[in-house]
Amino acid sequence: MKLNNGTSIPQLGFGVWQVPDDGARDAVAEALRVGYRSIDTAKVYENEAGTGRAIAESGLARDEVFLTTKLWNSDQGFDETLRAFDGSLERLGTDYVDLYLIHWPVPEYDRFVDTFKAFQRIRDEGRAKAIGVSNFRVEDLRRVIDETGETPAVNQIELHPGLPQDELRAFHAEHGIATEAWSPLGQGESLTDAAVVEVATAHGVTPAQAILRWHLQLGNVVIPKSVTPARIAENFDVFGFSLSDDEVARISAISGKRIGPNPAEFN
Ligand code: NAD
Repeated sequence: MKLNNGTSIPQLGFGVWQVPDDGARDAVAEALRVGYRSIDTAKVYENEAGTGRAIAESGLARDEVFLTTKLWNSDQGFDETLRAFDGSLERLGTDYVDLYLIHWPVPEYDRFVDTFKAFQRIRDEGRAKAIGVSNFRVEDLRRVIDETGETPAVNQIELHPGLPQDELRAFHAEHGIATEAWSPLGQGESLTDAAVVEVATAHGVTPAQAILRWHLQLGNVVIPKSVTPARIAENFDVFGFSLSDDEVARISAISGKRIGPNPAEFN
């Protein structure tokens, strides 16, 4: 998928939240072997080193893998960001990332605009190919756009059938921001929903595959997580079928709620 700065991100990637460093090395190695070419980590996941090692050991050229990491909340601020980014690059064992994200807006600190200005410097130096945000609300996005003159390339947000995020998706579409879905499977919760199971059965696929297909057809970037090789492969095998508009609408209509923290309050 094309980003607003001219670079591209694979629409289907692999996330490693809650995977210890050693396990991340194994899981990322398996994901790259299966065919994923986009990996999502973060400083706070404490597995940048294992992730970077798996990429280095994969036999793939660095430019064949799209690598995302994120700035943690306590590192927000202009100088703090520059220092934290150096630390991430060192742990990842690379000299650039493809996408650097502000992990949470943390409105109570009110430092995300200065943080994004440091991101612009990092991008201008070629050390992040694209810069974006995560968990930003419409009002936070408006401030970044108004106060830096630049529209973030990506907003990575909690998004799954139980939380379809229509308002943010519409704002993103209007402003050319790519919507990246975290917890795309609702951390497993959406997999037992009756509508999801019915749609999956109709196509002879699993509920996880039906939900990932739903995301792809809505235009979301997705980064499902698993450490189980069979599931890592299953989640990548979603290009051999497509859902009808009615099936997409049925999955969009299922009820659910936010699983993660509220971005207005989280620090
Ligand atoms: P997810 O929705 O990807 O669910 C992962 C869980 O679903 C797994 O632990 C497993 O229990 C289950 N699962 C995965 N594949 C399955 C399959 N094929 N069949 C059955 N069960 C399956 O949730 P997640 O890990 O929270 O989110 C994905 C990624 O998003 C994370 O790894 C991370 O990279 C990113 N993330 C970002 C933020 C943020 O604040 N930016 C927050 C949370 C997660």
